[in-house]
Amino acid sequence: MTVTVTDAETDVLVIGGGGTGVGIARDLAMRGVSVTLVERNGLGQGTSGRSHGLLHSGARYAESDPEGARECVPENRILKDIAGECIRDSGGYFVQVAGDDPAYFDEKLEACRKVGIDAEVRSGDAARRTVPALSAAVERVMEVPDGSIYPSRLVAATAASAHACGATIRPHVGVTDIHTDGDRVTGATIEDTSVGGTSASGGNEERIDAEHVVNATGAWAGRLGELAGLDIEMQPAKGVMVAIDVDGLDRVLNRCREPDDGDIVIPHEDQVVLGTTSVPVNDPEAYDRADWEVERVIEECASMLPNLRGRDPARTYWGVRPLYEPNDAEREQRGISRGFF
Ligand SMILES: Cc1cc2nc3c(=O)[nH]c(=O)nc-3n(C[C@H](O)[C@H](O)[C@H](O)COP(=O)(O)OP(=O)(O)OC[C@H]3O[C@@H](n4cnc5c(N)ncnc54)[C@H](O)[C@@H]3O)c2cc1C
Repeated sequence: MTVTVTDAETDVLVIGGGGTGVGIARDLAMRGVSVTLVERNGLGQGTSGRSHGLLHSGARYAESDPEGARECVPENRILKDIAGECIRDSGGYFVQVAGDDPAYFDEKLEACRKVGIDAEVRSGDAARRTVPALSAAVERVMEVPDGSIYPSRLVAATAASAHACGATIRPHVGVTDIHTDGDRVTGATIEDTSVGGTSASGGNEERIDAEHVVNATGAWAGRLGELAGLDIEMQPAKGVMVAIDVDGLDRVLNRCREPDDGDIVIPHEDQVVLGTTSVPVNDPEAYDRADWEVERVIEECASMLPNLRGRDPARTYWGVRPLYEPNDAEREQRGISRGFF
């Protein structure tokens, strides 16, 4: 039998301990708001710890989403300023390989400059002097201030900072019910999800009352919404990342073409992480992890770095994008916005 044992109160209850949740908790705590964050797993174990780790300069979406790209410029600067230990400020190249549409390159260059992203064109030979492993088929590159970010480190540091400012951070605590008074959300029922936690042994639950409840559950936002009787039309999409032992790459590489499978290479310490795919899934946890995704990503990235061909992955992992798209017609498209709603 489950018993509700403790009543706690907070101004704001944040549900979800990924980048979004810990960032919100830190911001509120810095403003003196009483805030409690609960995360049913470890911090950053959702999508945040499974992302590619590209610190966007904004160039990737400059022509398709200029507003989002413009936001990246100060975000990139602020993150380098306040979280430099979580970033490798490598810079990046958008790479045009023989056969890629040169008009796309020119359009991106113009769009970058329009939104204020530093972008300089270099010849293929100049780029190969910096990155000798680049393919001979690389015709030209656009140098932009992309970088690598270590998301787990950033989530941990942000949570520690939130805690230092007075936030209560509770990993391994999941929300099992949302309370409403008919019109508004008033709190939640939580349970311990740690190994040996009380719920696992059929034990106690807690009730937390809150003035405001923030749903920061990413790809799970629809499921949490259901607990409050809300319909949030999430369209989660999985993507694979492939880590390969390669030392010495010191630039982020993006293939300069319409976003597609296998067009990004990110240097992470003594590995590079290749990605990714974008395949709609119905369930953000139970989905197929397909070999074709791994093979395709290696093959495509090898168009930029031929020495990747035939290499065994050191590690593969999948993440699920928290995409929101109320229009079902968009479901199959890579074009679902990465913006905020
Ligand atoms: C393949 C892939 C590659 C990506 N690459 C990049 C990149 O290179 N650069 C970039 O900037 N972005 C990238 N992204 C996007 C980025 O990772 C996400 O936008 C970001 O991590 C979302 O963070 P979040 O906090 O909203 O979600 P999450 O990190 O998923 O956090 C949500 C948390 O809510 C928790 N939760 C769910 N239900 C409950 C509950 N009932 N009770 C308590 N907790 C609950 C989950 O356990 C989870 O930890 C990528 C995404 C994917 C999938």
